[in-house]
Amino acid sequence: MTVDPASASLREVKDRLRGLLRDELVLAPADAEARAQLERARGPDGRVDLRSLDLRVLPWALEGLGKEQVRALAVFKHLWQRGVSDLSEVQTVSRSTMNALAARSRLGALAPAGRIDSDDGTTKFLWQLHDGHHIESVLIPDEDRPGSNPNRYTLCVSTQVGCAMACSFCLTGDLGLKRNLSAAEIALQPLLVQQQMPGGRRLTNIVMMGMGEPLHNFDNVVTALRIMLDEDGLNFSHRRVTVSTVGLVPRLRQLVDTLPVNIAVSLNATTEEQRRLVMPITRRYSMTELMDCCRTLPIQSTKRITFEYVMMAGFNDSMDDAARLAALMTDVPAKINLIPYNENPDRDIRRPSPETVRSFQAYLAERGFNVTVRATRGVDVSAACGQLGKAAQRMVERLPPLETEPS
Ligand code: SAH
Repeated sequence: MTVDPASASLREVKDRLRGLLRDELVLAPADAEARAQLERARGPDGRVDLRSLDLRVLPWALEGLGKEQVRALAVFKHLWQRGVSDLSEVQTVSRSTMNALAARSRLGALAPAGRIDSDDGTTKFLWQLHDGHHIESVLIPDEDRPGSNPNRYTLCVSTQVGCAMACSFCLTGDLGLKRNLSAAEIALQPLLVQQQMPGGRRLTNIVMMGMGEPLHNFDNVVTALRIMLDEDGLNFSHRRVTVSTVGLVPRLRQLVDTLPVNIAVSLNATTEEQRRLVMPITRRYSMTELMDCCRTLPIQSTKRITFEYVMMAGFNDSMDDAARLAALMTDVPAKINLIPYNENPDRDIRRPSPETVRSFQAYLAERGFNVTVRATRGVDVSAACGQLGKAAQRMVERLPPLETEPS
């Protein structure tokens, strides 16, 4: 039997908590990892954002209040399962304890700033951050697609305001990096979207493919992922959570060593030179290094790494590219996802013809690769891949205010 590291450590925490319910042990001094997470969650006023803490670390935010672990579990469940927005709503813990906690902490927030529905069923959610920045999440239902699972709802989540990776074809890169999102700002995206979904529908999948490079905001992304995977938190299966990266090699390895989530790598080229032209990160971590890393990642035998390949006409869509791509994928547990470029007014890049995409796909399929073509969604609302962020500010000014449903 295989044991996945996340649920093993989670089980440890739960076992400890169950023990504590009986014994009410004293809180141990915070270890280095907990201290670092607490420091990241601390605002300029010294208050710790409780929504930026995972369940292992939350008890230390209650230090000195007594029964820290048990009360932390109650607070965590209220924050992430009931979605309360005020600590006074935590009814299973005494009012005086909650008042004391409220006085020394805060709750990270995302203000809904608009939503816009695409003709193809995708919905783009716009959020305003406390410092005035805006980010976006995109909800992609599978219900309307023939042959697809009618109950699948995927949320594309942002991890940074803007992005520092500067991939030449991607519009989010034009913003540069404004700042990292906190763990709260990342994990709140699925929580708040979930609260707006009609009739008991639930998000089933999370892809970190929105604005930003997840592994460039590693610590906050890992904390957010722990909140998402925790059965007392958002309770997503690790099989349904995917982190997409340009390939920050050491961080990629570290992520796989830390959590059992799915990995997607944006490859987008088949030679070093070609990749350097469109993805500057290739100068830091060569494609060879990246592929060597992917070949040796200790992923579960049932999992595959998804390789995203944005197809740009006349640049990386030749049959020579297809042949080189096949060679690169040798000995890698790979799934290939071809993404015909989403054209936009800010770039001269063209999407290849459907025939070119089909031949490219067929070449790989004939050689035994699992290869899919990503259907373009959300183009009419600028929610398609690589289009997030650019129009955000303009949208804020245009949209009617959002109706929020009480949780
Ligand atoms: N930084 C991470 C997460 C963002 S995912 C990463 O790069 O993986 C965004 C995906 O959309 C990436 O695979 C990127 O290559 C792709 N993309 C960017 N601009 C695009 C465009 N105009 N058309 C199609 N795909 C695009």
